[in-house]
Amino acid sequence: MGKIDLKGCTLTQLQDYLKELGEPAFRAKQIFKWIYKGYTQFEQMTDLPKGLVKKLKSSAYISMIDIYKKYESDLDGTVKYVFSLKDKNIVESVKMKYSFGITACISSQVGCPMGCAFCASTIGGVVRNLSWGEMADQVLAIEKDSNQKARRVVIMGSGEPLLNYDELINFLKVLNSPLAFNIGYRRITVSTCGIIPEIINLSKENMPINLAVSLHAPNNDIRNVLMPINKRYPILQLLDACKYYIINTKRRITFEYALIDRINDSEECAQELSELLKNLLCHVNLIPLNPVDGNKFNRSNPSQVRKFERILLNNGISTTVRREMGSDIEAACGQLRRSLSTR
Ligand code: SF4
Repeated sequence: MGKIDLKGCTLTQLQDYLKELGEPAFRAKQIFKWIYKGYTQFEQMTDLPKGLVKKLKSSAYISMIDIYKKYESDLDGTVKYVFSLKDKNIVESVKMKYSFGITACISSQVGCPMGCAFCASTIGGVVRNLSWGEMADQVLAIEKDSNQKARRVVIMGSGEPLLNYDELINFLKVLNSPLAFNIGYRRITVSTCGIIPEIINLSKENMPINLAVSLHAPNNDIRNVLMPINKRYPILQLLDACKYYIINTKRRITFEYALIDRINDSEECAQELSELLKNLLCHVNLIPLNPVDGNKFNRSNPSQVRKFERILLNNGISTTVRREMGSDIEAACGQLRRSLSTR
């Protein structure tokens, strides 16, 4: 029988495994802690008896993803990673440096099936879901490479996390667990393009995370062009789900809005968006678009961005323009994977 990978085992699974080895359950907690401190060698787990280390070495291992490529910004310390998975698929993650510490932005799928017209991650569709262990590995690898714990995690890389729901929930639990990453739910953000049934489910999980909804348009006509998911879950239904989420969780929702030149950045769009979001406990994050090679969309010019922001603010909508990080390595999300991938 092959060795078992302990990365990606829940604490309960680890306890069951230790029981099979004839060991007490508390050993599982010790091993779990070591794994999420980034250790992969059983000999380094100094509180384990030698006999157990021997048993573990003969029957188990702890996997770790490899850094395949790394691009570091000279401007602000942002680092873009391309990680190689066990099956040789590759995914992108980003480390951003802030005054409070580092934030890890990680992927939830290899590729993405959602087909958003402005996004490189979806070109070529989805290859597969990532396991929660592979999501955790991205954070661990960033922490190890930075020699620093992540203060915040955003699940905003390639993939639609709510289509990988069960793995996402396990990942959120391990991020929050005091035995593992110990990151408060309020310092975790999940981004979705608007999968309504899972937004409803997420609102019942009792996990006070930040939910970011990619809106990118103030009406169905524009959103249908930019985001095919809108044909399945149109904008007003999506907003109803968001209201339900806000009422259930008492958490503010962030709406992501990528400003695209002459597509969704007019003053009329800003007025329409203000009307749509009026009286909603929300924040709007305006994002200057990262152009993707070969597609027709361009970013709005800075004066248009400011005008758009001003209209929302004047209408009482909490709004900020996302600070650009690592603009010297600004290949849009998904482009690196596409240029480096052989599969
Ligand atoms: S924007 Fe997000 S949901 Fe849309 S295709 Fe890209 S990764 Fe997928």
